[in-house]
Amino acid sequence: MEPRYLDPELERASPETIRALQLQRLETLLEKTRSVNAFYRDHWKAAGADGCGIGSLEEFAARIPTVEKRHFMEDQQAHPPYGRRLEHALSLGEPLIICSTSGTSGQGQELHAQTAAEFEVTQRVYAYGLRWAGLARGDTVFLTMPITMTSGGRCEYHGALGAGLTVSAVGNYDVRRKLDLLRRFRPAALFGTTSYFAHLAAVSEERPPSPGIRALLAGGEHAGFSWFRRLEAAWDAPVFDRYGSTQSGNDHAFACEYGIGTRERPGTVHNIDPYHLVEVIEPETGRHVRHGEEGEIVFTSLYRTDTPAIRIRLRDRAIWHEPGSCRCGRPFTGLEMCSIGRLDDMKKVKGVNIWPQAVDDVIFAVDEVDEYQVVLTSDATEADVATVKLMPKSGVRGDALPPRVSASLRERIGIRFRVEVVAPGTLRHSEYKARRWIDERRR
Ligand SMILES: [Zn+2]
Repeated sequence: MEPRYLDPELERASPETIRALQLQRLETLLEKTRSVNAFYRDHWKAAGADGCGIGSLEEFAARIPTVEKRHFMEDQQAHPPYGRRLEHALSLGEPLIICSTSGTSGQGQELHAQTAAEFEVTQRVYAYGLRWAGLARGDTVFLTMPITMTSGGRCEYHGALGAGLTVSAVGNYDVRRKLDLLRRFRPAALFGTTSYFAHLAAVSEERPPSPGIRALLAGGEHAGFSWFRRLEAAWDAPVFDRYGSTQSGNDHAFACEYGIGTRERPGTVHNIDPYHLVEVIEPETGRHVRHGEEGEIVFTSLYRTDTPAIRIRLRDRAIWHEPGSCRCGRPFTGLEMCSIGRLDDMKKVKGVNIWPQAVDDVIFAVDEVDEYQVVLTSDATEADVATVKLMPKSGVRGDALPPRVSASLRERIGIRFRVEVVAPGTLRHSEYKARRWIDERRR
């Protein structure tokens, strides 16, 4: 496949060159943070670190403590509304791009910001992913996410503009209006969340819903391989997944030309290494995992020196891919396609750890299934009962589905699920961040 480089020099460099660049940017970041950011300075001091004399990326990981949601919330409560971590940025008198987390964790909304100058680099970061997805200057992209105080939507909007695309901000319209606008303008790509693309396709009477779409820029939630394949079939266009967070202030990892890859060899969501350092660690020990192993993502922005984000634990997990391991040969590290998810999403059922993507993948591989739901309950002996409710596509008889799906689940997941068929229309398709698990077990 012909590589679509944005910056050929960096994308064809050696992994050592990229690491040296990261270390150089890290040194600048640490020095500035030490001198202007009391939040990080005190946080490091409490862990016996000062951020001085870091001579390698390994030393950085070993000596600089991680930071997480509770630290940010404490900071905001003590110094409302922004916390001391943004004191320096606020003192600059420069415009800021301020975003809050969604607050769905129930532990409050974190505020994160970037200066306008930093945001120019953020736009540059998006240009990599959009270029890799095959989009060129002047192409039209439909942004299906609304623009609010959260980073999702806002960053994509500016990122696409920065990459030279014509952006139609259709996120605030209802699904019918979006479909009408698609028919009228025939964009080259959709930019949004994965579930929403499925929702659009489900509501549309046309197949594909918009001929001429060349890229589905999916993201914002975990997804299994079969789910992506379905989406590609429904739209007749390849999926390019991405990964980022409010804390990172952007999407900083993107699929390359190889997209989702194959089931045997899943694609890589490449971190844009020149601007970000991504570690994937064993949560208990802090050890960096090896290629192909799974761990927790720890994020550092290398360009946000006025609004630092240094070693943030995101409670997200993924399988790590070492530089050069993707078929594209890029020297950038990455996360395995379909392996990214919330650590909190893991379910322990009958003593087995289960990731929702794995179940997604088994069930959506069955063509006749339209939607499903898993309900966890307890039986009279307090043992776990896992029931899968399958909703077949309309016009499909579902009688043969339970034994088939039950056998595949047992083989791939390792526990027995009760499988029952429910009538079409019973289960709703989610429009944003699919929530297919209901846990009603007695604790
Ligand atoms: Zn690649």
